[in-house]
Amino acid sequence: AVGGLGYASYEIYNKRHPLEQKPFDPKKRTVVVLGSGWGAVSFLKSINTDDYNVMVVSPRNYFLFTPLLPSCTVGTIELRSIMEPIRFITQHKSRNVKFYESECTDIDPESKTISITDVSDIKGSVSNTTVPYDYLVMAIGADNQTFGMKGVKEFACFLKEVWDAQKIRTRLMDCVESAGFAKQAPEEVDRLLHMVVVGGGPTGVEYAAELHDFLKDDLEVWYPELADKFRITLVEALPNVLPMFSSQLIQYTESTFKQNKIEVLTKTMVKEVADKEIKVMDANKNLVSIPYGLLVWATGNCPRPLARKLMARIKESQTSPRGVLVDEYMRVAGAPDVYAIGDCTFSKYAPTAQVATQQGLYLASVFDNLARIEEGQNKKITPFEYSHQGSLAYIGSDKAIADLPFLNGNVSVGGVATYVFWRSVYISNMFSFRNRFLVVGDWMKSKVFGRDVSR
Ligand code: FAD
Ligand code: NAD
Repeated sequence: AVGGLGYASYEIYNKRHPLEQKPFDPKKRTVVVLGSGWGAVSFLKSINTDDYNVMVVSPRNYFLFTPLLPSCTVGTIELRSIMEPIRFITQHKSRNVKFYESECTDIDPESKTISITDVSDIKGSVSNTTVPYDYLVMAIGADNQTFGMKGVKEFACFLKEVWDAQKIRTRLMDCVESAGFAKQAPEEVDRLLHMVVVGGGPTGVEYAAELHDFLKDDLEVWYPELADKFRITLVEALPNVLPMFSSQLIQYTESTFKQNKIEVLTKTMVKEVADKEIKVMDANKNLVSIPYGLLVWATGNCPRPLARKLMARIKESQTSPRGVLVDEYMRVAGAPDVYAIGDCTFSKYAPTAQVATQQGLYLASVFDNLARIEEGQNKKITPFEYSHQGSLAYIGSDKAIADLPFLNGNVSVGGVATYVFWRSVYISNMFSFRNRFLVVGDWMKSKVFGRDVSR
């Protein structure tokens, strides 16, 4: 469950032409939002632009529905179906919202300015500048954790952004086509068709599941001579995959993977990454080489350089290397008027879209209350409280798992019915009617015609 960002009625009734929006008002305070992901968009959707001027800075001019990104690596869903332009969101607001497609490279909490850099390949005469803010909302997400291991960035594929899904897709099809090349040595065919996923968290598990479906439903049909040579291995350092799910669902996932011939190597830690093989420390503490064709790296999050830079500036207050420390009102410790939400923060919750969405909504209500207090109204700002709506994951062969809070306990379910539930939850949480329409169309298209096997 990701927590609703659904826009259906809003988009129909409140859509405005940019020329009908009120202009920036110099008498109003300016809120600068960094990012266009889950936290930023949930904040933007709710912030009242009659109270504030709002400016958004992000290197991506679109929102990405990450829960369906693994499906895009194999073509079950097209990437454009899970992207929504940021202008679609800003056009609903009463006041014009400025958007700069750029990366924030520095935050100076003393002068209350940020430095931004144009990220496009075609730059105008100005590509670096500073922007002042009254309030800053950091929703910059997190980077891929590599533990500084050599070779990971060079040889592995991550799975966080649109370009990651495209890169995985290209590498996978390159491996398949090269394996079929004339007079390829048998051991080279085995290597090329060995797909290794590192990290048994939800990203690694969902990717392995989607890959399995693609191999079974499509690649084995189109490449019958290679059909018995495809292999998927999932490497996880802990004793089991998906530690955040109940033990019953962990067992169910591991047995489904076994049936689907996905080899799960638990208690196995990757130690070295080279261009054609990884070295792992196995459960018996032996160093073992695993040759691979495609390597997907999903070992969690670490802070982005901008977050690290801010934390270093105010290091007396920022004592955790794992993310920006905030108080219960999402205020950044040591930086007045700077707020942080979502994956860039270090908090007791898992870094999920569900958390980022709730924090964005909460922060918009804080800003609303601040404006009312300034008008003289008696409003109280209460701390953020997270409400867990449950966890869901796709595990392949049309099966999903769900841990859902129920009364005062928890319900763990898995199987085909849960998969139908998984689909309906994600469809209802999609950003716009357009996204829903496109995703349902993609599902139908891949069911009827199969997935596209072109590169
Ligand atoms: P993001 O959504 O990552 O957004 C960060 C934004 O900041 C981006 O727009 C980025 O371009 C921008 N940015 C980066 N650097 C800068 C900078 N220097 N200046 C300005 N802007 C910047 N969670 C769930 O709850 N359920 C799921 O099913 C689920 N599935 C997932 C599947 C995958 C494959 C992945 C990778 C994650 C999944 N998650 C899921 C986790 C979820 O995507 C994240 O927790 C969520 O994206 C965090 O939201 P955020 O706003 O903090 O960061
Ligand atoms: P994660 O932190 O959840 O899991 C990473 C896994 O990699 C861990 O189990 C860790 O033990 C393992 N690992 C780390 N180093 C390793 C090594 N050297 N060798 C082998 N294994 C190693 O990361 P994730 O799966 O990328 O997820 C990131 C966040 O996004 C999480 O909060 C997750 O809940 C969320 N997410 C949720 C969903 C969902 O709800 N369906 C899907 C994807 C991501």
